[in-house]
Amino acid sequence: MSRKHRHDRQHWIMEIKEHYGCAHCDENSICCLTFHHIDAKSKNRKICKCLSNFSKALIRDEVNKCIVLCFNCHAKVEKSLIEIDLNKRCYINEHFQIAKFKKKEKKVSDDT
Ligand SMILES: [Zn+2]
Repeated sequence: MSRKHRHDRQHWIMEIKEHYGCAHCDENSICCLTFHHIDAKSKNRKICKCLSNFSKALIRDEVNKCIVLCFNCHAKVEKSLIEIDLNKRCYINEHFQIAKFKKKEKKVSDDT
């Protein structure tokens, strides 16, 4: 696989993280964000490893089982200190487009 190809996927994954931001707080710096598997049993592979080895479709499948959290919130979820809002889970559609979830307390912008 070419270097460019791999770079594209890395970029895509960063785009996904940036798009969603932390599902629990307002953190949206990519370096602080991680994918959290909603159902630990469905965890097949680490997304970072998918970058070099798996197709975009496989990455999408995996991302769709996840919710984006910052490291702080992720740690709290692991300790059951907070509950995550499953409405904010990731969803990449069949065209590999990143679907939006409705952000809380954001006024509807008129970008129609
Ligand atoms: Zn957070």
